[in-house]
Amino acid sequence: MVHFIDQNDLTEKVLPGYYCIGCGACTAIEDSPFQIKMNEKGQYCAYISDSSVKLYHRIASVCPFSEKAINESQIALKLFGHQATYHDHIGYFINANAGYVAEGKFRELGSSGGVAKWLLYELLRRDKVDAVIQVAQNLSADKDGILYKYSVSNTLDDVLNGSKSAYYPVEMSEALAYIRKNPGRYAITGIPCFIKAIRLLSVAEPIFKERIVYTIGLVCGHLKSKSYAEMIGWQLGVPPGGLSYIDFRKKIPGKRANQKGVEVKSKLPLALKGPDIVQNLFGTNYNHGFFQYHACNFCDDVVAETADISVGDAWLPEYLPDGQGTSVVVIRQAGIAQLVKDAIREKRVVFQPLNPERVVESQAGGFRQRREGLAYRLQLMEKEQQWYPPKRVKPNSRHLNAKRKKIYQLRMQMTSQSHELFDQAKKAGRFEIFQEGMQLLIDQYQRLYRPTTGRRIKRAILRRTHRWLGWPKQI
Ligand SMILES: Cc1cc2nc3c(=O)[nH]c(=O)nc-3n(C[C@H](O)[C@H](O)[C@H](O)COP(=O)(O)OP(=O)(O)OC[C@H]3O[C@@H](n4cnc5c(N)ncnc54)[C@H](O)[C@@H]3O)c2cc1C
Repeated sequence: MVHFIDQNDLTEKVLPGYYCIGCGACTAIEDSPFQIKMNEKGQYCAYISDSSVKLYHRIASVCPFSEKAINESQIALKLFGHQATYHDHIGYFINANAGYVAEGKFRELGSSGGVAKWLLYELLRRDKVDAVIQVAQNLSADKDGILYKYSVSNTLDDVLNGSKSAYYPVEMSEALAYIRKNPGRYAITGIPCFIKAIRLLSVAEPIFKERIVYTIGLVCGHLKSKSYAEMIGWQLGVPPGGLSYIDFRKKIPGKRANQKGVEVKSKLPLALKGPDIVQNLFGTNYNHGFFQYHACNFCDDVVAETADISVGDAWLPEYLPDGQGTSVVVIRQAGIAQLVKDAIREKRVVFQPLNPERVVESQAGGFRQRREGLAYRLQLMEKEQQWYPPKRVKPNSRHLNAKRKKIYQLRMQMTSQSHELFDQAKKAGRFEIFQEGMQLLIDQYQRLYRPTTGRRIKRAILRRTHRWLGWPKQI
């Protein structure tokens, strides 16, 4: 790995290398000179307001992409090592499940099985916490154009107002400032790097360890810039700047779980557009990495390994036909394991035990991207003598054939081009500029997935042989 001695970790490596995910943990150290702002790409990023302050080492220790931070396995070992088993992809776990919430409207109003919000509700209802910090629709979106924000829910009704999955930039600086100012016990939701940041912050500033008593992690493909919502809105008839609301996970009756519905609301005139399923909209294939943060290319935690409980979508063949949604749930904290066990017994939630390997299978694409793909991206950084954040995955390219390498290169290209072309399209007021430009890359990408002539012939022969022998169709 390339080391630059004597450089300031945050201002000379993380920020200029575009590794900041904009979580806001760096602002929560007392007297921190950092602030979070949205940049021109529609991504949150840390900015320094006073370079004379000398707290860098301490601040860097809470940044999830800094080399001063300890890694996810080290954090999780301290938290869960005494009570849970280790798995090299999902981290420590007491148990893993697939399921949904049977009581109330949690499932109907949830992203998948409604487990995350149900758990927050339960924690507040049972007086395990005084308030919940979660992402919710921003009620002043019409003024500031920001559709989702972290917010504080003090009542059970407030918890229900939490958002479904927000594939949208969010940051925690205000929420963390609130926690510092207001004594109490909090539960918080977050994608893997945000939960990692909270754990790091809890070491650097014990007040957060005392007050953040439960962490609920969301399995994560990657974080999107604000343009992702704008791109969807534009296709549904609301040009950028005109959105006042987006639901990324509208459940449409009769559709399969992975046919995620999207619905938007325009500001003027106030009108609902959609719903439509994402598969009908350009740019929504998560594998293509449109509008992804650069830092996500350097993440090796798919399932939020440092969270007390992680919740994701059960992307497994047996759960897809049920469009009501099923969650995959990994539990690491004994208190939560007991709470869920009680709810299963009382039939308030319906969970089936899941082998950890099946959790991995449910996120197969995410793990490929952040294991074999990450190793290759790190190898490219080594070759170019560029700094990158320390990772548990080692740089390597020998495990990939030329086609897989090209796939990973094209994904990175699609990410960077999506930001640029969308900006051009917005300035010109023409969506086609974006769509036509991106389609060229998508075509190249899709060609790589087409079977070679040799493979096609082999498949045809096998198919005919099966037919001739009267065997069921398998290929
Ligand atoms: C950016 C992103 C990428 C994701 N990628 C994947 C993936 O690749 N594979 C997968 O299986 N699952 C992924 N998920 C998780 C998945 O979409 C669902 O959030 C998860 O299944 C929980 O569903 P639920 O019905 O249990 O949650 P719900 O009951 O709907 O509750 C969701 C809770 O999460 C909070 N929340 C929503 N968005 C955010 C956010 N951006 N940051 C912090 N908290 C938030 C809400 O406030 C709410 O409390 C992703 C989520 C996000 C936000």
